[in-house]
Amino acid sequence: MDIRSVGIVGAGQMGNGIAHVFSLAGYEVVLNDISAEGLAKALETIEKNMARQVARGKITAEEKAAAQARIRTTLTLADLGATDLVIEAATEREEVKNKIFEALLPHLGPNTILTSNTSSISITRLASRTDRPEKFMGFHFMNPVPVMQLVELIRGIATDADTYDTLLAVVKRLGKTAASAEDFPAFIVNRILVPMINEAVYTLYEGVGNVRSIDEAMKLGANHPMGPLELADFIGLDTCLAIMNVLHEGLGDTKYRPCPLLSKYVEAGWLGRKAGRGFYDYRGEVPVPTR
Ligand code: NAD
Repeated sequence: MDIRSVGIVGAGQMGNGIAHVFSLAGYEVVLNDISAEGLAKALETIEKNMARQVARGKITAEEKAAAQARIRTTLTLADLGATDLVIEAATEREEVKNKIFEALLPHLGPNTILTSNTSSISITRLASRTDRPEKFMGFHFMNPVPVMQLVELIRGIATDADTYDTLLAVVKRLGKTAASAEDFPAFIVNRILVPMINEAVYTLYEGVGNVRSIDEAMKLGANHPMGPLELADFIGLDTCLAIMNVLHEGLGDTKYRPCPLLSKYVEAGWLGRKAGRGFYDYRGEVPVPTR
């Protein structure tokens, strides 16, 4: 199937990045959110990130302008009805995603491919609540989308070969690389990455190290480009906690229990960079550790 237009639900960190890369690759983009402020912020972020690409000579000013002209924003989910491909990138809560699909389905054409950018929720279960499990897939972008090369493609039990091949072609047109993952909790990247982050939070919780020493240790001792707590703030602590809960419930192994300190930060609303505070406080000139 030839994909020309893409509807994106959720204009947060991931949604704006997805809109960015699709518009640059020549797709018509309709970006939806429940918050007008969220949509305005997404356009600002796209402007800032594309301007940086122009300054670095990665794209031309004309390409930037043309891409931005291909992005339309809307508060009305039904406006995504005419698109060929929908990517749901809203908050990582299953009931939120189910409600979005329920509201969207009556407006979709029969051939529209429906996908979720979920980091961890079962694709088969999300698909089973829709009218098109064969045209439903996990389409998992990495953060920040314009920079990261990988996209995980996750087939549900009913996903057909055409849908997979179509998304594989889309990934190629975006200039990215696909990795195929089976539909088990958190797929490949987050199954490995998020328990490591959770372990870093336990290391902090038990007083083995403080925020700075844990991040320094993993940067200098394991050659990671970012420390695990810095990375957790970058991903969003609510998203990290949601992924740990999905691993814990989905695999039933106590080794996946979320660290109580991670839950505490989320309860406080200290969700990381997007909230201005997480394991670091970002409200001043330089990030300051909060523990
Ligand atoms: P975010 O909190 O930055 O953005 C979520 C957006 O969804 C918000 O703008 C919110 O207003 C919007 N939203 C909530 N309910 C909605 C609804 N009913 N209709 C339309 N919009 C709605 O979160 P994020 O980090 O962008 O994560 C979004 C999805 O992407 C999640 O499923 C997450 O697991 C996944 N993901 C996140 C990362 C990451 O590193 N943050 C990486 C890969 C995938």
